[in-house]
Amino acid sequence: MPWSFHNSCSLCAADLAGADDPCPNCRDRNTSIDGVTALGHWSGPLREWLSGLKYGGDSRLSYWLAECLVSIWKNTYPGVTVVPVPPRRAKLHFGGCDPVGLIVRRMGASGVPVGRYLKRRGNKAQKNMTREERLEGSALNYHVKKGHGHIPQDLVLLDDVMTTGTTLRSCASVLKERGAVHVYGMVVCRD
Ligand SMILES: [Zn+2]
Repeated sequence: MPWSFHNSCSLCAADLAGADDPCPNCRDRNTSIDGVTALGHWSGPLREWLSGLKYGGDSRLSYWLAECLVSIWKNTYPGVTVVPVPPRRAKLHFGGCDPVGLIVRRMGASGVPVGRYLKRRGNKAQKNMTREERLEGSALNYHVKKGHGHIPQDLVLLDDVMTTGTTLRSCASVLKERGAVHVYGMVVCRD
């Protein structure tokens, strides 16, 4: 199996140089995300598989990646509802697939509870934002869909690649505003 949990920061999944967890970046930061697990690095086979899924839509890959993520979920977040991060619109527009959507559908079929609570604002909505709203940053890119009165207290976000962690933190903040208490992150690759 390609993933390794050892020697990575429990809050951002970055490699740890020493034995101290969380890493120096996370230690002094007040973060809305309560822990992150990654299958592996954005390199080698995982990178190829994820790219294959994005641009080729190979459904066998989504099956395999979902199996790996289900086993992490069973070990680390058993029973916790998985919330997929909605795709960036531009990605879909340029002929790409939504790997997170494919994977989460497979996970749901394996019995994992899935909560599609989040929605990403379209370009039109962003254009209509005030300057102040835009300056507040990407937290405004996500919101909880209408019609979800009750949000479970514990949730785990699912995304494909984590780079700075801004997306996961934004989504976690939005969910916590709506009553979630612990929000974790599960990603295929850590860049
Ligand atoms: Zn960290």
